[in-house]
Amino acid sequence: MKVLRTFSDVRELTHGSIGLVPTMGYLHEGHLALIDEAAEQCDTVVVSVFVNPLQFDDAADLDTYPDDLERDVELASRHGADLIFAPDVTEMYPARQRTTVTVAEVTDAMEGEHRRDHFVGVATVVAKLFSGVHPDVAYFGRKDAQQLAVVTTMARELSMPVEVVGLATVREMDGLALSSRNTRLTGTERRHALTLSQGLFAAARRFTEGERRSAPLESAVRDIVVGSAGVELEYVTVANASTAEPIDAVAGSAFLALAARVGSVRLIDNVFIDGSTGTVDTGVRLEGPSIVYGGDDPCC
Ligand code: AMP
Repeated sequence: MKVLRTFSDVRELTHGSIGLVPTMGYLHEGHLALIDEAAEQCDTVVVSVFVNPLQFDDAADLDTYPDDLERDVELASRHGADLIFAPDVTEMYPARQRTTVTVAEVTDAMEGEHRRDHFVGVATVVAKLFSGVHPDVAYFGRKDAQQLAVVTTMARELSMPVEVVGLATVREMDGLALSSRNTRLTGTERRHALTLSQGLFAAARRFTEGERRSAPLESAVRDIVVGSAGVELEYVTVANASTAEPIDAVAGSAFLALAARVGSVRLIDNVFIDGSTGTVDTGVRLEGPSIVYGGDDPCC
């Protein structure tokens, strides 16, 4: 397993079909599920670890983002990654970045509305990874549903020769969506944060029972989250899964997404709901405690 710092080193060492898993590091089972899938489908698996300053609108969030490259290398290699690409900021942004990628409309609502220029940062760094690494397939989590729509739209509309694959959200045993930011929650905040997935699951049940209108689905979340201790809901929105545009009723593939602050930590979560099939994807749950809190990876 090699840790590489430059795009040219990555291109030199990849062969056959290339799978890319872009991450900001401090890996957890959500990332590892993406790596497992890439390892199953591709000849070379590249995991990028880069905390992208361009996509942070909050300096404190950037400063406190957890990192431990040695740990990430160990975990990624156990799950079949061949190369870790961990560039310095100067490799990624050698000069002032005058060229950025803006994906219109898909970025208007939800995260785009609440985090200024966040998606310009995301689309730009992912475009750079795609041009520098030349992946055939890139793996993203449904946990960041709007980001998945943004990246899929960008790749298609800029004719990038890469297939973008979205995989289910991995959750802790009690339902909390895995996030590297969960490590910053105190024990009490972690308990408070549970209300987010509980709200989404309640709405998913309403959907399964036949509710297709967005307003009652969003209310089902609000009824549980608003007023719950320690949690400040930023938004809850039903959106078209491909365009990320808010919709009034669910006819095709959609997601119900929320963002909330729990203490100083901002968390996002969602469930996918499909009006044409009546199915829901609430993600998959771990059977034991997550490695994100320092335990061992039960994988090997
Ligand atoms: P991040 O390191 O948070 O930028 O995430 C890197 C990739 O992992 C993104 O495609 C995320 O959507 C995905 N990811 C993050 N958390 C989860 C999770 N709980 N389940 C599945 N994928 C995830």
